[in-house]
Amino acid sequence: MIDIHLGIDDTDSNEGMCTTYLTTLILEELMKKNIIMTDYPNLIRLNPNIPWKTRGNASLCLRFKSDKPKIIFKIAKKILVENSESKKQKANSGIIMLQSKKIPDEIIKFAEKCLYQEIKMTELNKIISHNNIEYFGQGTKRGLIGALAAIGNTLSSDHTYELIAYRKNIKVERGVSLESLIKIDKSKIYSTFNNIDYNNFRILITPHGKDPIFFAMRGNNPIDLYNAMSKLEIYDQAERFIIYRSNQGTSEHLQNKFDLKNIKTYQSGYVNGTISKKPNVIRGGHIFLKIESNNNHINCAIYAPTITLKTISRKLEKGDEVEIGGGISKKSKEYDQVLNAEYIKINKLTKKVININPKCKMCKKVMKSIGYNKGYKCIKCGVRSNIIKKRKITREIKKGLYLPVPSAQRHLTKPIERYGKENYKIKNIPKGTWFRIF
Ligand code: ATP
Repeated sequence: MIDIHLGIDDTDSNEGMCTTYLTTLILEELMKKNIIMTDYPNLIRLNPNIPWKTRGNASLCLRFKSDKPKIIFKIAKKILVENSESKKQKANSGIIMLQSKKIPDEIIKFAEKCLYQEIKMTELNKIISHNNIEYFGQGTKRGLIGALAAIGNTLSSDHTYELIAYRKNIKVERGVSLESLIKIDKSKIYSTFNNIDYNNFRILITPHGKDPIFFAMRGNNPIDLYNAMSKLEIYDQAERFIIYRSNQGTSEHLQNKFDLKNIKTYQSGYVNGTISKKPNVIRGGHIFLKIESNNNHINCAIYAPTITLKTISRKLEKGDEVEIGGGISKKSKEYDQVLNAEYIKINKLTKKVININPKCKMCKKVMKSIGYNKGYKCIKCGVRSNIIKKRKITREIKKGLYLPVPSAQRHLTKPIERYGKENYKIKNIPKGTWFRIF
């Protein structure tokens, strides 16, 4: 039997479909051909800061053994053509099949780059021509980039799981009981995360678009996710569910330090530096920070919907040492390239000292300033003084890592509760019930 990696991307639009669902349609047919899965289906999130994405820049990969690669590719291609939004010219679908036990290094490197930079079609075409690859693309064929990146990211480091249930009736509102979800969320036995945003009691497991997803639960363990699903009370019918292994919730895209002399548009990463200007609040309640790092500067934008980041960043002072992670925006008419913050880590808080007016030794009254650097005068007896008193102010913020509220986090953002609980054990072969059609 031959090792096969099947990458799929860019099959949906805001009007419908979801590449995760289309992947289940392919899997449903491939299972009839007696494939042997060598991993859970993979859901790979790519650079969230590129502009072409529909929602969360997801790409998919199925890894299995089969002795019928030609038939496999034919089936996958047929399902793609029949179901992708490309048929309405609303997507640029791509599907790639690699036959190889080991993933070639250049595909692994391509996948790494796809997490934190913009990739050009020329880079893709070079790799396709070098390797034992079969592919099919529609429209601009941009989906081939994500399809290849999904193959190249084997999730050999920290990873999580996502159970996605799809709905039978696409026209009705998604019905999930908040109470049952709170119970699951509070019970740590399920090791799930980002179920609810308690800041506004928003359910985060149900999307709001026209896609076929009913709900999607994330967690550290696939069996826990299955158990959590069985405790979730729902008011609609699910049509199928699948468990994906994923890089979601790992911050895998933010592992590279920016070279501020050479930053690129849409790049993701982080900068370590010092606040060089007092935070500036702009229209809409967004905050601008200027960071200095080895004599280079960058402006960082902290957007109001991040709530926590906005509150924290307003209280930062010139001289504070921070690490800020996020993505580089395109230059606009108003601003040069800006780092849009996805997290702030405060490493050192500068001492904040204010000048206070001295008291008159005779009258015990607080003296008045007579102008900048001119000293003080007692308004009662007229005595003058040049003694400037300083008082240390207690800072309202603490050192540490700050993330946006859960509803404003990226799919890739590593939630606070996952720090120290990273999952490096790779149980590749799917166990228990990981895919079912009802
Ligand atoms: P969904 O999450 O609903 O599946 P999406 O947000 O993943 O949708 P797509 O419709 O797949 O969005 O569109 C993203 C497009 O960007 C794809 O064509 C993909 O190949 C391409 N792409 C992904 N990462 C990069 C990158 N780093 N550089 C250039 N193109 C990229």
